[in-house]
Amino acid sequence: MPEPAPVTGVEVVEMGPDFIVLTWDPVPGATRYQILVDQNESGEWDDHYSSEPFFRLEGLEPGARVRIVVRVREIAGERVSWPASDPVLLPEPGPVTGVKAVERGSDFIVWAWDPWPGATLYQILLYMDGGYEREVHYRSEPSFRLEGLEPGGAARIIVRVREIAGERVSWPGSVAVQTETLPPPPRRCTNERRLALRYSDFVSEWDGTPFRVDVVGDFPDYVTETDLESLLVPVGLLEDKIEAQLGYRIVEMGDVIPVPDGTPPGWNGDEKTYNRTCPLSRDRGQIHFIYLDKTIDTPRGQAGAVAFPRCGSFAIVKTESGIGHDWPGRDWGGPTMHELFHVFGFAHIEDYDGRRGVPMSRALDDSAATLGAESAIWVDIDYLRCIFPEGG
Ligand SMILES: [Zn+2]
Repeated sequence: MPEPAPVTGVEVVEMGPDFIVLTWDPVPGATRYQILVDQNESGEWDDHYSSEPFFRLEGLEPGARVRIVVRVREIAGERVSWPASDPVLLPEPGPVTGVKAVERGSDFIVWAWDPWPGATLYQILLYMDGGYEREVHYRSEPSFRLEGLEPGGAARIIVRVREIAGERVSWPGSVAVQTETLPPPPRRCTNERRLALRYSDFVSEWDGTPFRVDVVGDFPDYVTETDLESLLVPVGLLEDKIEAQLGYRIVEMGDVIPVPDGTPPGWNGDEKTYNRTCPLSRDRGQIHFIYLDKTIDTPRGQAGAVAFPRCGSFAIVKTESGIGHDWPGRDWGGPTMHELFHVFGFAHIEDYDGRRGVPMSRALDDSAATLGAESAIWVDIDYLRCIFPEGG
């Protein structure tokens, strides 16, 4: 009698919408194999049998997530209970799901995610402070604890499966999840409003009435009304986030509006002319979200977005690969927050000199890939309280 061993080399050699064909390495003397199948992680294993080292499994639910293991059940007609093979997972390996913060304090965050069947190692891509710089961590358990953070700060992670049963794999990452630590006491306001005014004339328009962001609907023809409305969604999220933190509103989501009457033709064809002439007439406290129909080259490549603080507006910009590089078809929340906060008097971290503007958080500065209103974190909104005090 050979030594009990798991079946090796289990492979899917054919696959259809509701069937698969499996093969595995033949085990000398084996006269019966057991094939165990779990659909959609039900925890209930259906068993099937084959006398040959292959099996056609039929009647699968199309698109179902399937786990299969194979083991030897008879050797020369004698019943045995040998260990199972490594699981085969179908469909093709996907991203980790269910990533969320399960605990947080003023200096730590704990994230957890749905365990992946058979995963023995997870890779965590960590973006400290919600910025672009990345650290790589590994964990064998489906959770990650990060310490040593600042109160009111942020960190973002992406998780992926790195090993299945000790075998290295390269699977896609989860969605990025950004989490903020518990905040410190609010800052004592001193000269923040004055600094913001030196950066953006628009700041002087605050009278306690929430600013209103409208999208000026003069975009290329292929951009739909739904695409345009999607640009306002992050503004609505910011509206709620500010109100939840400060107890009053500073900004609100407006509408998609036509180009105001009397606007000169070609008004959005050049950023320098736009910034000099502020060609759109607008109400006090109104912010225009525009499309700039011209590419802007910068030392870091073509700009996807730009702000015009003195005109009370900001833009998504034409690039060689479309609008804002790849919009529509992606969440434009990160760039929207960044440009809107320029209008609110915020400067890049590297441009901040203590004389003009207040500094962005790292998350707000490096916001290109951040969703919704996530890149505007607690410290940014705390600055807004000093720049735009309740009641005007
Ligand atoms: Zn900027």
